[in-house]
Amino acid sequence: MIRALIYALISIVAISFLRMVIGIIGKGFSDLMKEETEASRPQQASSTSKPPPTRGELKACHTCGTYVVASTALTASSKGETLYYCSKECKAKNAAA
Ligand SMILES: [Zn+2]
Repeated sequence: MIRALIYALISIVAISFLRMVIGIIGKGFSDLMKEETEASRPQQASSTSKPPPTRGELKACHTCGTYVVASTALTASSKGETLYYCSKECKAKNAAA
């Protein structure tokens, strides 16, 4: 009777130990996968995370007031001054007005 109890205890310990080992292996695998995906990510990231040319002055959109980078903004010259627009819509709106 005691022996049966000991066997039961041993099997419980063995099962929990196995589960732990499987868990560690599983975690190890997922970490490995993570590392692999992270290792392949920086290449993409480095090409995409390069900030767009945000250098340069910020100009307020003449129509809606949204700030846009002068070098990438849509522009129109009016009476010798340059007007900046955040979008075609804004430029069109201002042209219509
Ligand atoms: Zn605008």
